[in-house]
Amino acid sequence: MESSLKLVPEKEIAWLILDLAGEKVNKLSTPVMNRLREILESLHGSSFKALIIISEKPGIFIAGADINEIRAMNSANEFDRAVAGGQEIMNLIEDLPIPVIAAIHGACMGGGTELSLACDYRICTEDPSTKIGLPEIQLGIIPGFGGCVRAPRVLGLQAGIEMVTSAKALKPQKALKTGLVDKVVHPNLLRKEVLRWTLEEIIPKGKRHKRFVPRSLLEKFLESVGKTLVFKMARKEILKATKGHYPAPLKALEVIEKTYGSRDRTSALATERMGFCEMAMTSVSKNLLHVFELTEMGKKLAQVDAKPRKVEKMAVLGAGVMGGGIAQLAANVGVQVQMKDISFEALGKGLKHAQDLFLETLKRKSITTYEFKQKMNAISISTDYGGFKTVDYIVEAIVEDMALKQKVIRETVEKCRPDVIVATNTSSLSVTEMAKGHPRPENFAGMHFFNPVHRMPLVEVIRGEKTSDETVATVVQMCRKMGKTAVVVKDGPGFIVNRLLMPYMAEAVFLLMEGCDIAEVDNAFVFEFGMPMGPFALMDEVGLDTAVKVAKIFSQAFPGRMELPGIMDQIYKSGRLGKKNGSGFYQYDAKGKRLDVDPTCYEAFGLKAPTKPHQMQDCIDRCVFLMINECSIALIDEKIVNTAHEVDLAMIMGTGFPPFRGGLLKYADTLGAQHIASRLDQFAKTTGGSRFQLAPPLRQLVQSGRKFYDLEPANL
Ligand code: NAD
Repeated sequence: MESSLKLVPEKEIAWLILDLAGEKVNKLSTPVMNRLREILESLHGSSFKALIIISEKPGIFIAGADINEIRAMNSANEFDRAVAGGQEIMNLIEDLPIPVIAAIHGACMGGGTELSLACDYRICTEDPSTKIGLPEIQLGIIPGFGGCVRAPRVLGLQAGIEMVTSAKALKPQKALKTGLVDKVVHPNLLRKEVLRWTLEEIIPKGKRHKRFVPRSLLEKFLESVGKTLVFKMARKEILKATKGHYPAPLKALEVIEKTYGSRDRTSALATERMGFCEMAMTSVSKNLLHVFELTEMGKKLAQVDAKPRKVEKMAVLGAGVMGGGIAQLAANVGVQVQMKDISFEALGKGLKHAQDLFLETLKRKSITTYEFKQKMNAISISTDYGGFKTVDYIVEAIVEDMALKQKVIRETVEKCRPDVIVATNTSSLSVTEMAKGHPRPENFAGMHFFNPVHRMPLVEVIRGEKTSDETVATVVQMCRKMGKTAVVVKDGPGFIVNRLLMPYMAEAVFLLMEGCDIAEVDNAFVFEFGMPMGPFALMDEVGLDTAVKVAKIFSQAFPGRMELPGIMDQIYKSGRLGKKNGSGFYQYDAKGKRLDVDPTCYEAFGLKAPTKPHQMQDCIDRCVFLMINECSIALIDEKIVNTAHEVDLAMIMGTGFPPFRGGLLKYADTLGAQHIASRLDQFAKTTGGSRFQLAPPLRQLVQSGRKFYDLEPANL
């Protein structure tokens, strides 16, 4: 640890240099905190005139506390001790008799930001890697090392609340504007400038005594008599964003309200510490920490024992809804991409789609005009195969038709180098079957993006029967390069995500046929269960024609288990396609924004007005438990994926399954297989539906008393 945290004297200044040995990032683990305490205590009574804290890790100041340590703690006492220790160290920084300056380059998160807030001054680089934030609420906890107390003191009430309760990291210019940092400099000048500033300006001034000073009349008002209004508005915003499912932002707000303006630091920090411990003990926090673990595990589970190929040039076949988005993602990370379509009109639309996405980032100032041009220049278009000889990697995103896809793949591969890798974006066709169109099926896999491509974090990487490890490794690497989370799945109808979503959506149609109200069901899923949208809104997004087509494919693939609701043909014939033609279960405005439920849709589907025959909890359980039932077969019998971790990661990243529930199977384990089985049995009796029959692998879980998460890959 000695070598990781060094105190280096220079003239009358002490540099505290952070560079944890053997770690990619600097984090505030217990040994680091102990060493920090030692150093800070040694500085009391020293002859130094200032302390500068700086990191030598590339792209990282401090990433935050050690999450593994948090995960290992179980009791409120353990949390209390750890947080009290952290608070003491931040106090030591604040109480040093000499000014302390944080010189920030790269990510400064959580405990790192709290440390910088305890400093007197902060300077950061203008590098794109520099961002300063308090993301604790994403783990269901609140900043506990003084962040709730100090952020509003430094930034003012409004900006302080925003920083703590939104978890959004501030980029350098925003940090400067809000007063979070005092200066922004070029990364190459950080050391030189912080030294000059400290020697010439800070040391003569000494410790900083003033904190936030309102700059306008409005700020003056909001800091004084308008305070109540600020808290009221913030509470409303939080409830709107979290729908009441996440208690941490509300707790952080409560802590700020109780402590803001107090001169009693000890009691303010005690209030914050109590809030932290309370939150750390909630099931929401445990589940959010589990989701954090899922993302870490996901990286390991998608690892294949083969070296990925180098990809410099890529081609995208089909410039439609998906193709344009995929080309944009590739160009964004510096891959040359050629988009090929059969029509120039489609290519124009695909290119415009990519351009619109880059324009948005330009408007947000996330990229410069020069970078915008560079990224757009990385995309070329063609209606022929000119240039395909130099392509390393192809994503096929043409229309969903097996014969056509096989023909186009065969034709394309003939124009390319023999080792080219082809990945299909098909959402419902067999990758193994499609590989028959490729003369070397080992170089063929699935790469299933979700719509909208730029927003949805998941890509399912589908291993066909003959796909080689090298191909899987290359597709996984491309997903990561494009900023996506890859889950490797076996070939099979709907892979994993759509396989589970289909019974969920079909069940909603059964509920509709039984007299349920569309808005009531969707609202229950959003406001009570926590899905980003209800099943009817989702079907509108997918397209009602596509939903019906896929439901039919599934009912053939899994006869008996996947029952087809009787009104599917009527839905198909109604001409209502959902969002894409502005008419589905919902109405849409000219820009495609979803409005209210279309009251005429019941009649259009041959139904009477809703009679609301069911309790909402029954509606939710019917849809969700069918997913769990199906999942037991997909996971345990068919091994579509190998672990419960992958199911949960895919469902959270691919469908927005509520993270506070920890994922579909974590939720199932929380309820217990016995409870799910008896509810399924009850629904089988009340509806007479064969789809509710308990799946044999779920029955085994009931009999053995085991959980999905007890099943190690080797036992599956
Ligand atoms: P789309 O209809 O918007 O675009 C398909 C494009 O392919 C069109 O521009 C068409 O001109 C072009 N095309 C047709 N034949 C071609 C050929 N021989 N060579 C080159 N281009 C050709 O379709 P989409 O929604 O982008 O879907 C494309 C693929 O992605 C499908 O396999 C679909 O299942 C899959 N997918 C779609 C979604 C979605 O929500 N739209 C989600 C995931 C996966």
